[in-house]
Amino acid sequence: ASLYRIDRWGPPYFSVNSSGNISVRPYGAATLPHQEIDLLKVVKKVSDSKSIGGLGLQLPLIVRLPDVLKNRLESLQSAFDFAVQSQGYGAHYQGVYPVKCNQERFVVEDIVKFGFPFRFGLEAGSKPELLLAMSCLCKGNLEALLVCNGFKDAEYISLALLARKLALNTVIVLEQQEELDLVVNLSQKLGVRPVIGVRAKLRTKHSGHFGSTSGEKGKFGLTTTQILNVVRKLEHVGMLDCLQLLHYHIGSQIPTTALLQDGVGEAAQIYCELVRLGANMQVFDIGGGLGIDYDGSKSGDSDVSVAYGLEEYAAAVVSAVRFVCDRKSVKHPVLCSESGRGIVSHHSILIFEAFSSRASSSPEMNQLALQYFAEGLPEDVLSDYLNLEKAAISGEYENCLVYADKLKQKCVEQFKEGSLGMEQLAAVDGICDMVSKEIGASDPVRTFNVNLSIFTSIPDFWGIDQLFPIVPIHRLDERPGVRGILSDLTCDSDGKINKFIGGESSLPLHELEGNGGSVGGARGRYYLGMFLGGAYEEALGGIHNLFGGPSIVRVSQSDGPHSFAVTRAVPGQSCWDVLRVVQYEPELMFQTLKHRADEYCGQDHSDSGGDDSHGTDSAALASSLARSFHNMPYLVSC
Ligand code: PLP
Repeated sequence: ASLYRIDRWGPPYFSVNSSGNISVRPYGAATLPHQEIDLLKVVKKVSDSKSIGGLGLQLPLIVRLPDVLKNRLESLQSAFDFAVQSQGYGAHYQGVYPVKCNQERFVVEDIVKFGFPFRFGLEAGSKPELLLAMSCLCKGNLEALLVCNGFKDAEYISLALLARKLALNTVIVLEQQEELDLVVNLSQKLGVRPVIGVRAKLRTKHSGHFGSTSGEKGKFGLTTTQILNVVRKLEHVGMLDCLQLLHYHIGSQIPTTALLQDGVGEAAQIYCELVRLGANMQVFDIGGGLGIDYDGSKSGDSDVSVAYGLEEYAAAVVSAVRFVCDRKSVKHPVLCSESGRGIVSHHSILIFEAFSSRASSSPEMNQLALQYFAEGLPEDVLSDYLNLEKAAISGEYENCLVYADKLKQKCVEQFKEGSLGMEQLAAVDGICDMVSKEIGASDPVRTFNVNLSIFTSIPDFWGIDQLFPIVPIHRLDERPGVRGILSDLTCDSDGKINKFIGGESSLPLHELEGNGGSVGGARGRYYLGMFLGGAYEEALGGIHNLFGGPSIVRVSQSDGPHSFAVTRAVPGQSCWDVLRVVQYEPELMFQTLKHRADEYCGQDHSDSGGDDSHGTDSAALASSLARSFHNMPYLVSC
């Protein structure tokens, strides 16, 4: 566990059990030993098509754990409840979940359901997000806030006003000054008294990657002057009582409570000023930023670490707001946060398979290499080869490397000129690999090929160098024998993972068992998990190379014969699905190919020689075509 730092980033949800597998503790610290879920058992159950109850789902796979989601939500609420109570704060905490973080229906519905007892609400940043938030909150606690952020047009604002008509506790947060006229005019037209918030552009600057748009020159929010204009205008039209919420967001993944309190303190001053100017202020919304300690270092010194937990976060917010409000004799506001990453990161795990590995050198080629090498070598190349041989015999290792490099360079040049054959070129590669290996200069790191698209499933690694804990989910009672990087299925040099938490450029991994080389071949499988990736990764993933979304299962703790029950299973996007995304019509594509199969297989092609599709039954061909459309784009187990 310490090799992969699981003991640092894992608690309270992830640990290693006595079988050497990753075990999930769905209720965090309150989980009893018999309630723990063995992740390998989940993967075997859902991917197996042969056993009774096996679902035959293809990997990659997202395992969603609603119990973890519930625990996370409740832990955030109780951290704030405790801070409120222990500091004698005069109002309550009532959070919202920003749906952009993971818009999946069952995630959002779960959050609304689990958050019902404490009025947990939703935040939307676009029209479709608002529509889904409205429909989910209709089934939730009607006191829950529905915060409308993002750039808005008349249609967005009308929809938000409509939500208010439906008795949803909707707040329209002005992101730009221009939105105010639309809100005033449309609310008069529709006969709805709106609740308005303003998003303030703070001077406090978050210096990490996630804060690049914060500070005075930041992209979002209203400046001090613009906020004053809003107040004057609302006063002028007799709607200053509608201004009830102050919002700001200085960026995701706030590293320390010092920076957090800096932002909260500045915003609290603005809140108090709005009270002084006559607004009917009720809610103080601190936006997102509650971070995740991905590397478990608790250092807060990089984008992958934060130096606090939920309790410290809540205590810092409550004390900073209380301090400012007390000094200004302002009634304590309801506290709201838009924590996304902090709520959903832990609840889903991406599981994928390593199907082959290769070393940087290929010693099995060397016998072949030597055999071909001397045959028919041009004179000058032969002299370099003999120099290399001499240096090797006399143990001059540094010289060996120099001669090997020279030899390779010359051979490549001659190959390009056409004076060297492929056998000799392959041979020189083999010889150079052998020299590097013998003198200990070869790269010991292997490349593990994984049945995954990084662009689809871990887009933040590619886009912003975000690191997540990646760990084999089994064999953790066995010392890993090699180190490796991960290379995905896409035809893209960026499709590899060669940076890991803890500043490592490779990961300790186990030798693949058996012969490897094909997914699910004659060997034991090797499963890896990417943890803490429940926020943003699904929402941002693309379909580069037309690799679509993974299969998804929802796994709940259960007191039945197993410690878990699969409560939902959805296969990943098929080739058919991803083709539709890029405007193809798979029905027509299939018909065209089937027609061609009927035509082609019905003809006599005896003169075209050797093509084994001749004589193929067109029905069999059509059915294998259909299978190709309906399978996922990933490698399929045989
Ligand atoms: N609120 C707003 C306005 C945001 O832009 C974001 C994301 O950047 C969030 C909330 C969620 O932030 P986090 O995931 O850090 O909690």
